[in-house]
Amino acid sequence: MSFFWRGVLSVYPILRCCVLSEVNSGADTYFWKDRWLNGRAPMYVWHEQYRECGQQDASFKDLAHLLEGHPFCEDADLVQIRDRWRNSGNDVKDIKRWALNGTGAFSVKSLYNFLIDGGVRCEIAKFFWKSKCPKKINIFNWLVWRNKILTMDNLELRRCNKLPTATCVMCHADTESVDHLFLQCPVARDVWGYFCRLLGVPEPPISMTGVWREWRGSVRPNSRVAVDLVVKALVWNIWIARNDRIFNDKILPATCILLCINRMLLSWFDALADGAKAKLEDTMAIVRGSLEFLESRSQRDRGDCTAEEAPYRSTE
Ligand SMILES: [Zn+2]
Repeated sequence: MSFFWRGVLSVYPILRCCVLSEVNSGADTYFWKDRWLNGRAPMYVWHEQYRECGQQDASFKDLAHLLEGHPFCEDADLVQIRDRWRNSGNDVKDIKRWALNGTGAFSVKSLYNFLIDGGVRCEIAKFFWKSKCPKKINIFNWLVWRNKILTMDNLELRRCNKLPTATCVMCHADTESVDHLFLQCPVARDVWGYFCRLLGVPEPPISMTGVWREWRGSVRPNSRVAVDLVVKALVWNIWIARNDRIFNDKILPATCILLCINRMLLSWFDALADGAKAKLEDTMAIVRGSLEFLESRSQRDRGDCTAEEAPYRSTE
């Protein structure tokens, strides 16, 4: 499974509110956290019992014995579900239904609509999901903003870091966290510094939360849509470069990262409809000039930033 999809699965706690469960064997349903009690998750009904239970992530099957006692046995809905579970075969899987549309099947569109319509009260959702970049880039950046990607510090927290250290592989000077990797790391600072000077925007803050709040607010309003794209391309390409170091033992110089970002931005721009292009034309003209400059410099310096580093690769 790719890092990207592991990242997506890591936000399941956020998406859990959008999934309804129907218990059969009870093996695939979280007892406390899933919405199997007629649309409710028991953790929100019996707070005290949830806090006191040492098995917050246990399955329905593992904790079904709790249903025999107080206070659960007094809930009529719950007794009905318990009886159905007893009569259900062990091999009958629990059923999951996506709660945001009539079909019960997950769709990215329904999730986007949910976010944009304010279903999740998130202050950046109103502009974040409207970016004209591929959905996977948007989702990845959203995961970064929520600190839900598998940086070394997050792997350590989950006790699944297979590397000997949690130090940033780009600079070897600090623990790798979202804020370090994408903002504080010297490599990231170089990349940010280049684009900040190029586009005449303020120096970035030291946290991703700050990027999408105060820092974005400090950018000229008519440049914000274009700058959003730059940030998203920058974050994505730093992640690619970081993965290249870890998995391919390949060191991508900052110039190559800059080239990849410029190429990526122009590829997004080329795919836009004419109306949308017009709004970004000024910034993209600057990006085009930047690409020409970097390509000529790269060729002069023995151009090792070939099409191989072009922006069309996944994180796999
Ligand atoms: Zn670093």
